[in-house]
Amino acid sequence: MYEKEYELVKRQYDDMIEMIRTMTSMDRGSKYLPGIMQIADYMANQLQQMGCEITRHHDDIYGDTVVGRKKGKGKIKQLFFAHMDTVWPEGTVKERPFEIRENLAYGPGVSDCTPGLVSSLFLLRTLNELGEDRYGELIFLFTPDEELCSPSSGQWTQKYSKEADIAICMESPEDPGTFISSRAGSVYYNVYVKGKMAHAAINPEEGANALEELTYKMNDILAKKFPDVYLVVCQMSGGSGDCCVSDNGYAMLRYRIKSWDSAPQIAEFLKEEEQKTYVKGTTTSIEYWPENGFGPMPRLPWMDDIIKLVETTSGEMGYPLKEGYSYGGCDASNAVLNCPTIDGMAPESVGCHSVGEYLCLDTLVPRTALLAVLVEKLSRDERYLKKSL
Ligand SMILES: [Zn+2]
Repeated sequence: MYEKEYELVKRQYDDMIEMIRTMTSMDRGSKYLPGIMQIADYMANQLQQMGCEITRHHDDIYGDTVVGRKKGKGKIKQLFFAHMDTVWPEGTVKERPFEIRENLAYGPGVSDCTPGLVSSLFLLRTLNELGEDRYGELIFLFTPDEELCSPSSGQWTQKYSKEADIAICMESPEDPGTFISSRAGSVYYNVYVKGKMAHAAINPEEGANALEELTYKMNDILAKKFPDVYLVVCQMSGGSGDCCVSDNGYAMLRYRIKSWDSAPQIAEFLKEEEQKTYVKGTTTSIEYWPENGFGPMPRLPWMDDIIKLVETTSGEMGYPLKEGYSYGGCDASNAVLNCPTIDGMAPESVGCHSVGEYLCLDTLVPRTALLAVLVEKLSRDERYLKKSL
């Protein structure tokens, strides 16, 4: 079934590869603004050529969020979003240039989120060629700072998902043959301990060692278990010198949480820990760091219909996808409370955020064709109007 959509996407395969090459040849790490602006220009240009009205939300630090909107004749507004930034610093493109080996593509960012960017653009191209215009509106949202937890673009994902009836997050799935219906999130805390310096040999008893205090507290913190929560100590530092009692200690805690229910328990425990003193003369402050980390993406009842639609349609197309889970956070958590959202719909990739990352090229066509059929189906079914849910 749906050979027309499949064949149309398949005919564009070489163009897709060229686009992947173009994108992986741009240094576009989140903190490299010229690269971010280069990809933002590229995405805006592509969307414009395909009939979208463009809005660019500029941020001096993080660069532009690019939005392309295309109105159709129907009612259902569908949002597709992906991020343009990668985790790779300037110069990586030169070190690890794009290449294809045995149907796998390699290069910086080729796994995250290049598949989502390319598939979104070719989805639109395919819909245009099919003459499909029964959607209410297609909104494409491409963000510059997801790898930093979207400090500038989180608000835009919130805004456009409020407008949309349905949202599709174009991250790649975690496992082959799956898409994502829920994700873990994280909460970050900074632990700061202040002490008092003194000579380590002459008068250590007059000091207050912040590193000792931090060590006792870290023992408590590591020993404390919460259900379905996984703690990673991401950073620790401190010390005042080789022959000094340390007056400072620092640790960064990242709790991976499956639901927001665990967050208050963690907060309460850390409050108690903050107030304890093991080493006289030290003080501790433990601060929640809301700007860092994505919240969890819960599987909400209003996603049932779209999940079923993806499973049925992919099966009909001979490319069955099953619902999956991810332990990584992403922008889907900024959308899911505003409209039914599914995730992991981009072509499949392996090894994201590692030098061995690659994109599975044989998933480009079936995944993009599936998206085209989904848009056609969603556009013809008023059940997907958000107000009717
Ligand atoms: Zn990503």
